[in-house]
Amino acid sequence: MRKLASIQKIKALDPIPDADAIMRATVLGWELVVKKDEFKEGELCVYCEIDSILPNKPEFEFLKPRGMRIRTIRLRGQISQGICFPLSVLPEGTPIEEDLDVTDVLGVIKYEPPIPAMLAGVMKSTFPSFIPKTDETRVQVLQKTLDKYQNEKCFVTEKLDGSSVTYYLRDEVFGVCSRNMELEADDENTFWAVARTLNVEEKLKSFGRNIALQGELIGEGVQGNKYALKGQTARFFNIYDIDKSAYVDFNEFESILKTLDLPSVPILETDYALSNDIHTLIEKSKMRSTLNDKVWAEGIVIRPLEERHERNVGRVSFKAINPEFLLKYE
Ligand code: ATP
Ligand code: MN
Repeated sequence: MRKLASIQKIKALDPIPDADAIMRATVLGWELVVKKDEFKEGELCVYCEIDSILPNKPEFEFLKPRGMRIRTIRLRGQISQGICFPLSVLPEGTPIEEDLDVTDVLGVIKYEPPIPAMLAGVMKSTFPSFIPKTDETRVQVLQKTLDKYQNEKCFVTEKLDGSSVTYYLRDEVFGVCSRNMELEADDENTFWAVARTLNVEEKLKSFGRNIALQGELIGEGVQGNKYALKGQTARFFNIYDIDKSAYVDFNEFESILKTLDLPSVPILETDYALSNDIHTLIEKSKMRSTLNDKVWAEGIVIRPLEERHERNVGRVSFKAINPEFLLKYE
């Protein structure tokens, strides 16, 4: 779960060229614009991430024209993600500790984009408990992990903006899931339609192993079809070995997809030595889509070639979202 609102330190305050009244603040790995003299370097504040919807209270009134939602903006050439508030916005008696999650005490909720009907489908059951749901952490909150895995050999894929799909075979049973549930087989539903187009069920059955393929459904009718594709398809980014309860490493991922003749998400690099500098990683995400160079890529996903796990963070795998993409589409 994202900490949408938390108590954080203003790590740095830097001038913005040709702008006297505002400064660039760094909080966690995020960069945002604050008013000059509003905060001091090292001071604690309440930091709210993009996608926060703030409660309709007088102190947040300025967000009303934007539906109370915090988005990525650009001010005087500086990209700004999130908002810092003084600690005084917290209810009296809130303990003041760095990194404390104050999402609930402030009444902040997360913006969730609506799901179109052809994707919604009919629920068969909750998401299978024997497969992890797809998710990626934002690199801006992962400085400690980056420091630990600096220079680790990683592969980088393009993050596609579609809809998460999971196809699995377990003890001869084939299943189709959207991001949060398993779907009843039907003719209308796009996740099932793509399974048929790509012959996923037959392929998994002839392969015979208990595995899940997780990917992104893209194309007509999905997230505005930004890549201007004909029809619909899925591009895969995870293979989960259900019997071992583990994702397969990159080598095996590639070889299984080759055997099944199914497409992966675009693979951009396979021997990337991980940088621990968040700014560098965000700069790296500012690219055009490899599916269509007329549009921005949503970003990149970075993972070690060999699967890694961390006690508190879980799987070492994260996303750097292209701020230009957010500016254009949020
Ligand atoms: P957040 O938690 O940041 O608020 P979110 O949970 O809705 O947002 P997304 O921004 O959609 O997450 O990012 C995670 C999703 O990205 C995964 O669930 C997966 O469906 C999708 N995805 C697209 N391309 C890739 C890729 N190349 N590698 C991994 N996941 C990808
Ligand atoms: Mn998430």
